[in-house]
Amino acid sequence: MTSLAVVSPSNAKPVKKPVPLRTGAEFLESLNDGRAIFVNGERVNNVATHPAFAEGARSAAKLFDIAADPTNRERMTYTSPTSGGPVYRGYQIPRSHADLRAKRLAAEMWSEATFGLMGRTPDHVSNFFAGFAATPEVFAAGGQNFADNVVSFYEHLRENHLWATYAIVPPQIDRSKWSSQQADPTMYAGVVKETDGGIYISGSQQLATGGVYSDWIQVSCIQPLRPGDENHAISVAVPVNAEGLRLYPRRPYALNAPNKFDYPLTSRFDETDCFVVLDNVFVPWEQVFIYRNIEICRDQWWKTPSHLYGNHQAQARYATKLRFMIGLAKRVNELTGNDGNPAVQAQMGELAALVMTVEAMNEAQEVRATIDEKGVLWPDRATLYAVMALQSENNPRMINIIRELSGASMITMPSSLEDLESPVTKADMEKYMVSGSGGARERMALMRMAWDFIGTEFGNRHQQYEKFYGGASYIVKTNMFRYYDFNRAGALVDKALALPE
Ligand SMILES: Cc1cc2nc3c(=O)[nH]c(=O)nc-3n(C[C@H](O)[C@H](O)[C@H](O)COP(=O)(O)OP(=O)(O)OC[C@H]3O[C@@H](n4cnc5c(N)ncnc54)[C@H](O)[C@@H]3O)c2cc1C
Repeated sequence: MTSLAVVSPSNAKPVKKPVPLRTGAEFLESLNDGRAIFVNGERVNNVATHPAFAEGARSAAKLFDIAADPTNRERMTYTSPTSGGPVYRGYQIPRSHADLRAKRLAAEMWSEATFGLMGRTPDHVSNFFAGFAATPEVFAAGGQNFADNVVSFYEHLRENHLWATYAIVPPQIDRSKWSSQQADPTMYAGVVKETDGGIYISGSQQLATGGVYSDWIQVSCIQPLRPGDENHAISVAVPVNAEGLRLYPRRPYALNAPNKFDYPLTSRFDETDCFVVLDNVFVPWEQVFIYRNIEICRDQWWKTPSHLYGNHQAQARYATKLRFMIGLAKRVNELTGNDGNPAVQAQMGELAALVMTVEAMNEAQEVRATIDEKGVLWPDRATLYAVMALQSENNPRMINIIRELSGASMITMPSSLEDLESPVTKADMEKYMVSGSGGARERMALMRMAWDFIGTEFGNRHQQYEKFYGGASYIVKTNMFRYYDFNRAGALVDKALALPE
């Protein structure tokens, strides 16, 4: 793990020499850095080779190779303002509507490589840091050094093509109490000691998706905090192999995926979600962006474009996943011979309308974006929060349509690939598992993929992810309430009421 101080000390002069784009092989090698990850009571020796994570790591490695491929240079990178070399579009601070569109096209290329099934790829939190760096004055309210730190750290990530994830929600220990009121003040991650060199943090955070694969984790809080919670009102960056940092991934689904045929998605795209424990983790001052300040901790999300950039990327990824989902439904219908049935076409039309809404709302964020007095582009808030607010209801609705359309087809598949290959069962499989248009293997492969998308543990975790990755729906809807133009709507009613008799 590179230490921030080695590559780009706080407030250092901009990095001059471009760092070559990272390859997949370099990424895989970097994972063997002593990070403390625990599965089934044992410490993982090397994420890149452990059966729980190896295939997910390979899927992530492909992303780095895609971005490093010179034929994708324009699509995946832009020119660093400090080094002049190519750096990821996820770090680009958009200054025009075309810039934001270019960022989406880059996000689409990466998300297509994982069919939208990995949510916290390196272009998610990079966008949050782009938003922080675009508005350093928000951090400067706590002291200019904090603004300098966040900009330097952003440049460090950007210039070295690094992957940051975040853990910004405290665990569900007792939601009826504020952070500082928990039974032990170090239940939720917070400051426990301050020194000249930095601060020490102890406690836990609920989840860091993709944490096992990332280079850095931002630890902060997006939940409301109250006076008294100052120790938890922080934003810091911690290298994943920091001493005292322990990651506890939920059950890795790849461990229960014996082959790629029966579990085509589980076996490849489990990005993992980790419970995060910080045990007296030392954070040097240059990696501290907010320190014991409740207002700035809140403002980093809402008075910077970070939440907008990060979720614009998240929606691009989601739209890709929905395209994959509706493509699966189409192929299932074709295989079952239902594709031409008008009733099925009406259901597919409903599905397509829901998918189209997400695609179009992404573009609407770009078209309706505004440019501030510093020349920084802010995606449209109302459009973003509208589509996010509907996601927690529309996602299960779409999955339900697919369940309806597929009937029992996914359930009537035999127990595994071995039934197709065993001389004892092969004849029955080849006779009865066929469809009107294809052989048994082809039909089984598609049905397995559809089931992995909606029915397996991996598929079900995705439904939880789409419901919660952007926060609980009541919070997203509150955001929507805040940004919709109710004045214009109310004025229309007033005008109608004032019509002459
Ligand atoms: C798969 C997955 C991946 C995630 N990845 C990350 C990640 O990478 N980084 C990260 O920081 N976080 C991540 N999260 C965590 C996510 O941010 C939280 O789940 C989310 O913020 C909601 O918080 P909570 O789960 O603690 O739910 P809570 O806030 O405890 O709420 C649970 C439910 O209680 C009800 N409720 C509670 N309070 C109210 C209220 N005031 N009004 C109305 N209803 C209420 C609602 O039904 C709500 O959905 C992830 C979550 C999931 C499921």
